[in-house]
Amino acid sequence: MIIILQSDAKVADRDSLIADLKSRGYGVHLSEGVERTIIGVIGTPERDKDNLVEHFEAFPFVERVVPILKPYKLVGKPFKPAGTVINVGNVQIGGGTVCIMAGPCTVESPEMLFETARFVKAAGAHVLRGGAFKPSTSPYSFHGLGETGLKLLAEAREETGLPIITEVMDTRDVELVGKYTDIFQIGTRNMANFSLLREVGTQRKPVMLKRGWASTIEEWLQAAEYIASQGNYEIILCERGIRTFENYTRNTFDINAIAAVRELSHLPIFADPSHATGRRSLVTAVSMGAVATGADGVIVEVHPSPETAVKDGPQSLTFQQFEQLLEAIKPVVEAVGRTIAPNA
Ligand code: PEP
Ligand code: MN
Repeated sequence: MIIILQSDAKVADRDSLIADLKSRGYGVHLSEGVERTIIGVIGTPERDKDNLVEHFEAFPFVERVVPILKPYKLVGKPFKPAGTVINVGNVQIGGGTVCIMAGPCTVESPEMLFETARFVKAAGAHVLRGGAFKPSTSPYSFHGLGETGLKLLAEAREETGLPIITEVMDTRDVELVGKYTDIFQIGTRNMANFSLLREVGTQRKPVMLKRGWASTIEEWLQAAEYIASQGNYEIILCERGIRTFENYTRNTFDINAIAAVRELSHLPIFADPSHATGRRSLVTAVSMGAVATGADGVIVEVHPSPETAVKDGPQSLTFQQFEQLLEAIKPVVEAVGRTIAPNA
């Protein structure tokens, strides 16, 4: 359940309420909005529910107590109706701006990374993406440069000022990846890796949680709840396509998910048209559709020479195509009343 405090509730009132909840053995999560403080109460035993609602509604500084029936609570819309806004350096994620993350699928060499980083920065990207630990369907494929890749990403950040996002695949690597990255990426294959979700939940850095390629929206939101349950509320959801019978495209971009997440959750929602389509010719059109539907940003793969890319070349944009994408989404961003923030 969530407890919504009156707008004039005092900090001391809030603290005494929290102490009361904790003494009963409940987990407490705070959401401090501009107008309202909302307290998420986790672990309410069924037998206590009715009594608790009555008990807490009797407090003069409590506006309302709302039982939450959904299996995800902290990431559900009622917990933070105004929406989560995440700040990474000067970059704002959520809250009416459209954020662009771009870079290679995987860090291959210093030259290609720095060239891409400089280019996407000059073109207007806000965050540099790049894999150092790469998931692969085959054990014999390239698995990334590991820490060397992380160091290169950090150097590229140093030079361009762009914050970085990179994938973490293993609980044992969370500390290492956290030493370098600004945003953790949890890939589609690990969406239901609950120990990994818990581990990034203990970090104080934003996490992008990609949707599992065979997961429902509700399963995905529950995966996000794992992260939030550990106290990390800075979660960005990312629709990257799901597996269907269609095989012209690599996956099927579920545009419904963008609209549904906006309805169900306060978390920012991104689109990854690169992995969703697997074809660079489709990436711009799908980005436009995602932004029109309310996506808070897109994450796209860009490579200096996609034909030589070690991974995901067919879906990687050339530099010129990336510029075209940014031009193409501008009128869409304006049409839905949003803005693309400058990246300087
Ligand atoms: C990636 O971003 O390069 C990636 C592997 O994504 P996904 O987990 O969505 O396949
Ligand atoms: Mn990729």
